[in-house]
Amino acid sequence: MSNKALKILGQEIKPGQSASLEMEVAKLHTRNSLRIPVIIERAKEDGPVLLCMGGVHGDEMNGVAIVRDIIRKKYNKPIKGTIICIPVFNVFGYLNQQREFPDGRDLNRMFPGSADGSLASQFAHAFTKEIAPKVDYVLDFHTGGAERSNYPNARCALNDAKVLHLAKVFGAPFIVNSTYIPKSIRELFHKMGKTILLFEGGKSLELNDEVVKCGVEGAYNVMKYLGMHEGVASAENEPVIVTKSKWIRAQHSGIFETRIQNGTWVKHKTVIGRISDPFGDFERRVLAPRDCYVFGLNTTSIVNKGDAIFHISMETQE
Ligand SMILES: [Zn+2]
Repeated sequence: MSNKALKILGQEIKPGQSASLEMEVAKLHTRNSLRIPVIIERAKEDGPVLLCMGGVHGDEMNGVAIVRDIIRKKYNKPIKGTIICIPVFNVFGYLNQQREFPDGRDLNRMFPGSADGSLASQFAHAFTKEIAPKVDYVLDFHTGGAERSNYPNARCALNDAKVLHLAKVFGAPFIVNSTYIPKSIRELFHKMGKTILLFEGGKSLELNDEVVKCGVEGAYNVMKYLGMHEGVASAENEPVIVTKSKWIRAQHSGIFETRIQNGTWVKHKTVIGRISDPFGDFERRVLAPRDCYVFGLNTTSIVNKGDAIFHISMETQE
């Protein structure tokens, strides 16, 4: 996309300029308007437009902290092209430390939205109209939901060569195959012909330094790859590509303890967890059902039968 005439939210930003804009999302009945900050940095030299966003789910703190650090380290000031940062996408949810929008909806299932839909749908619509068409590449930072902690991974549809290549450049320890979920931001950008990479690390309502570092370094790698910064992208890890995965579910209810570190390779029948009752009567070991990587685990201390407890690889490419 040509960098020359960038008009965003009604304002023209020329090459070499920066702007801190606000996207108006809704007018509240309290006479306040809800706006989200949109931070734009343009280089003098023409180049791609990259959007870095966090907090689509309001309780996913790592994503917000990653975009904050991208700004803090000035990685968002490119030598070529334009970088747009939206650190807190779902401001409502973020303030309340909730995943959802105040209307109870998951914002990430509302795209492209509509002008006269629900609050979340209006928000999605404004973003789809005002911001999405202006960008070429997107990095969308997430964590696991609820108590499920994800080892840092990039999510992409492996049959999309361009996205897969970007995921390798990003360099998170795992790349996990994930099809486009209907009405998600990822599907929206995909349908618009843009390249979007989703990063997931850690769990909601928790800040994890290692995860944040991995996300920031990954973004910096992508920026270098796109020529937005000097240097060559160098991933610390050769990512393990998980072509097929599944969640192991608890076979019993009870006190749940894990016996392994997230992100590790385990052999078939390794004891990876334990479920017991509070009375010392009942105890069952959870065994690895095969040789596999464990890259997501439930950190809750009590599980019910059927709860997802370990996310494991079923097939990998290395
Ligand atoms: Zn999320």
